[in-house]
Amino acid sequence: MRLILLGPPGGGKGTVAKKLQKEFNIPVISTGVILREAIDKKTKLGKEVINIINRGGLVPDNIILEIIKERIKQEDCKNGYIFDGFPRNIEQANSLKKLNKELNEHIDYVFYFEIPFSEIIKRLSNRRVCKKCGTNYNLLFNPPQKDNICDICGGELYQRDDDKGETIKNRLKVFNNQTLSLIKYYEEKKLLTVIDADLSENAFLEIKKVLEKGTS
Ligand code: ADP
Ligand code: ZN
Repeated sequence: MRLILLGPPGGGKGTVAKKLQKEFNIPVISTGVILREAIDKKTKLGKEVINIINRGGLVPDNIILEIIKERIKQEDCKNGYIFDGFPRNIEQANSLKKLNKELNEHIDYVFYFEIPFSEIIKRLSNRRVCKKCGTNYNLLFNPPQKDNICDICGGELYQRDDDKGETIKNRLKVFNNQTLSLIKYYEEKKLLTVIDADLSENAFLEIKKVLEKGTS
């Protein structure tokens, strides 16, 4: 089963992706996570992308595609995967289609996380992430039990640089200008399901229902 989670930044894709990974035993491939790891480790890739990410722009397609190509060929992806944050524009979607064809596989479902824009800004500016395990929290509606400490692993929580000020606005602009067109793209391919993502628990259950119906 190969899935794409599509939606605005802060729409809850990452949280739902983790739940789906557990439920269906297929890995999450999050380009954002891979890029942030590279930045943390100060690799060549990390140095190439840090300024782009901190401004809220998109990393060049060729870099992203190289990452995806390597990743989906790995052993743990042979029964499927969940894309979180990829593809982000038509060019990436076309390249994915080509790559899938070469590997004799296809995307089964694309889920669009629908959420009001006013909600997104609130979510992004209150998001905190565990340094150690990457779990997301929200100070307003999903706070950690102890201030700044991860409930799961005890790691320290931090605010992503791109979850601040102007960068949030830029990311929303990029989403509107480049990513939104993928809704129509996947609708035309009859792959799209729209999910009400106002509550992340609801989004997970809706997706689960669709997937279980599809495989029964
Ligand atoms: P969010 O889920 O909040 O949108 P991500 O972790 O998916 O954040 O992405 C963070 C940043 O990483 C993006 O703003 C962008 O700069 C870069 N990025 C992640 N995925 C891609 C992609 N598929 N193409 C281009 N840039 C990407
Ligand atoms: Zn943690």
